[in-house]
Amino acid sequence: MQITFIGATHEVTGSCYYLEAAGKRFLVDCGMEQGPNYFENEEIPVPASDIDFVLLTHAHIDHSGKLPLLYSRGFRGNIYTTYATADLCNIMLRDSAHIQMFEAEWKNRKARRAGKAEIEPIYDMEDALGTIEKLVGCPYKECIQITDDIHVEFTDAGHLLGSASIEVWMREEGEERKIVFSGDIGNKNQPLIKDPTYLHNADYVVMESTYGNRSHEEVCDYTTALAEVIQKTFDRGGNVVIPSFAVGRTQEMLYFIRKIKAERMVQGHGEFAVVVDSPLAVEATTIFQRHYEECFDEEAMEILGKGINPITFPGLKLSVTSEDSKAINFDEKPKVIISASGMCDAGRIKHHLKHNLWRKECTILFVGYQAIGTPGRALTEGAPQVKIFGEEIQVNAEIKILPGVSGHADDKGLMEWAGAFEKAPRQVFVCHGEEVSCEVLTSRLENELHYQAMAPYSGTVYDLKEGVFVRTAEPVVIKKQEIKTAKVSSVYQRLLAAGHRLLTVIKHNEGGANKDLAKLTGQINSLCDKWDR
Ligand SMILES: [Zn+2]
Ligand SMILES: [Zn+2]
Repeated sequence: MQITFIGATHEVTGSCYYLEAAGKRFLVDCGMEQGPNYFENEEIPVPASDIDFVLLTHAHIDHSGKLPLLYSRGFRGNIYTTYATADLCNIMLRDSAHIQMFEAEWKNRKARRAGKAEIEPIYDMEDALGTIEKLVGCPYKECIQITDDIHVEFTDAGHLLGSASIEVWMREEGEERKIVFSGDIGNKNQPLIKDPTYLHNADYVVMESTYGNRSHEEVCDYTTALAEVIQKTFDRGGNVVIPSFAVGRTQEMLYFIRKIKAERMVQGHGEFAVVVDSPLAVEATTIFQRHYEECFDEEAMEILGKGINPITFPGLKLSVTSEDSKAINFDEKPKVIISASGMCDAGRIKHHLKHNLWRKECTILFVGYQAIGTPGRALTEGAPQVKIFGEEIQVNAEIKILPGVSGHADDKGLMEWAGAFEKAPRQVFVCHGEEVSCEVLTSRLENELHYQAMAPYSGTVYDLKEGVFVRTAEPVVIKKQEIKTAKVSSVYQRLLAAGHRLLTVIKHNEGGANKDLAKLTGQINSLCDKWDR
């Protein structure tokens, strides 16, 4: 009974844990690494086709984004997650495949012009669709029996619609161990979704530490601040353009604007128009509405109880076609435009920036984190002009930042979550945080809660039955030039994976009818004869 730490070790993104227990091999999360990457992650130690199932904490791409790659390499097991996460993955994984294909095509156009070799996307739409077929939606707080000896339970982690902490019980030779994966732990008092639910018993805990060394600033009255921005901008005849993440942040904005409208907090502009211009955001909004019963908090349910939908209101336009999108900027009436991507590096937001940035009466309102190197970051840092679709655009509009309501618990929230265990777990593994965050949280768990805690590096293996480290991995720092040369042909990778899958299929046929076994052998041999050259 072992756990191997693969990703989000001393880093925030790329969540992935590999477990072997009760004769099964499974993953918890299979996320993509995003943004700066400091440490090399070890590969999952077995071929994808040998993995029996996956447990998924939530839909964010840094937890789910590599599932289609796993699928492309031969994984065909079930992916257990909550109903809402399964629904969100349906749109987010397709979107991710789209981005992979688009980026590969863009790089290939450049490569062709430069006479360089072309690359393959790490996965394509077919892989994403195949993955989506494997998603198994589960309710919160019910025992999900996966095999005779492994059962799990999902608990609302209050981080994103559908997000969960996962409790896993595993039995080997009559002995049971329980490990809890915190998933991303939510912040209290986020709009719409519930506060995180605490868990009280575990032998082992794997917990996140994104804000392990930081506290959130005092939350401002978001609705009032947003109403002021809208009022001021509309009074001078401009639009409020909000670059926003399609899933989560956009629905929060709608929640605030509904309140602003209901309480008439913006005066003199009637039922002003609010346009959501992102097909992904529109689909996500529908999913939020579908899962209110299991996911919404009391405040949102109270609004619903009065027969009011908390994320819709008069004047809301959900724009989908690209004609609709273009028409938005021909209508001169001041309006709010919410569009993706949140960091302005892709998507329809670029069109809206092009049409509104140069107009001094408009406001560009940033409500989320802006990574280094993105146009959003440049704008928030006061760039006098930015390049959009190859065109230099003057920044005359007002640039405003309203730090969003964070989806993550801060240091206080994390300590509270960890402190809810009635008995000290045998061992706490601190992951999903940058170097300083995970180290600071680890020592606080040790000093204040007297827990046995450590922050593993990728490749660390722990025996859950014996309670000992099998291997303590050392950090492998990525050198800049290695990142560029590390690309191996992904077509060959797929072939290799298919080979592993073939072996898995052969093993599954053990004990089958001799006639079938002989037939399969014949087919494999003729395939080998054809290709062995
Ligand atoms: Zn997350
Ligand atoms: Zn995360």
